[in-house]
Amino acid sequence: MAYTPLIIDSKFAGLSFAKRTYLPRIVGLGLGLFGLSATIYPLHSSPFIWGLLIIYTLIWPHIAYQWSIHSEKPLVTETRNLLIDSLLAGVWIAVMGFSALPTIVFLAMMGMNNTAAGSYSLFLKGVVAQIVGAILTSALLGFPFTPQTTPLQLYFYLPVLFIYPVLFGLVTYRAAKHLVEKKREVVRISMRDGLTGVYNRRHWEHLLRNQFDSCRRYNHTATLILIDIDRFKAINDTFGHALGDEALIVLAEELVLGLRTMDIVGRYGGDEFGALLPNTPPEQASQALSRIQEHLREVTFRDAPDLKLYISAGVADYQPEMKSYQEWLKAADNALYLAKSHGRNRMERAVPQS
Ligand code: GH3
Ligand code: MG
Repeated sequence: MAYTPLIIDSKFAGLSFAKRTYLPRIVGLGLGLFGLSATIYPLHSSPFIWGLLIIYTLIWPHIAYQWSIHSEKPLVTETRNLLIDSLLAGVWIAVMGFSALPTIVFLAMMGMNNTAAGSYSLFLKGVVAQIVGAILTSALLGFPFTPQTTPLQLYFYLPVLFIYPVLFGLVTYRAAKHLVEKKREVVRISMRDGLTGVYNRRHWEHLLRNQFDSCRRYNHTATLILIDIDRFKAINDTFGHALGDEALIVLAEELVLGLRTMDIVGRYGGDEFGALLPNTPPEQASQALSRIQEHLREVTFRDAPDLKLYISAGVADYQPEMKSYQEWLKAADNALYLAKSHGRNRMERAVPQS
């Protein structure tokens, strides 16, 4: 079904999101344990609160991670975990009697997490969750309010104040780098032919149009060659489609290796390739193609030792009379047609229209 890959993709994205959040949550809360202990120690002695503190700082990150990775919708679950983080932060802010330093540390940590993960709307939801957590807990505890921060508490918060933002920056940087690489890959795939790796027709035609414009504007020379494998259907029928594919790959490689790096090779369709040679008169282009044809004669296929690849080609240089790049293509295509009808395994030059 058409939508299956999308589901896999969003599940994959959710899993990597959960993995990205895992380490910062362990480190942030693990280091937070010191500051929280230093703040709670003078206020509460109840083993219940200390038990909850241990569960929150040391066990909750693992529960959250397990929830996400075993969820059908990890993205949704991890976003919910972030909101639980915010709610719990509100709870502990109230337990600490709104002590100024831990309160601001928690607000900053939750703000960073939520803006990075879900932008403005998650940030706002997080703030609401923190306020709800803080108000309910505070009401339950009789509204304790001890905003002052002792020097001891300050020292205990220093590690988390330094390490968490650095770690968070690192994780965010890695995610951004990964995204840039993915984007590059998508751009590359959108320009290339999946089988041979040369430009696909759409992009090659785009480059041809650019070349045409530049020839027209600056009076440059350029030659276009259309190349088609002779009797390719028979190769497929006799040796199989896989060998046909191999032949296409071999021809694409020969074209790329046999031409200059500035020349532009693309798969025009089926067994037809296009090569665009900027700043090249047709005589030179024909010579280059002859060399490629000669080279092809030496190519052998392991699974079809008797097979020889022959190609026909139509060569057309840019003419100032041409009104569009399509006319240029047409000229090369007509020449290719001539090469085929004159017996194949040859090239023909387009006759300039006068
Ligand atoms: P001609 O000498 O006149 O060019 O004859 P031909 O048999 O090569 O005819 P044509 O160029 O029309 O044949 C193209 C064939 O290429 C038809 C199609 O089955 C085959 N083909 C198109 N794309 C692929 C592909 O990706 N892999 C393989 N193996 N075959 C392909
Ligand atoms: Mg052919």
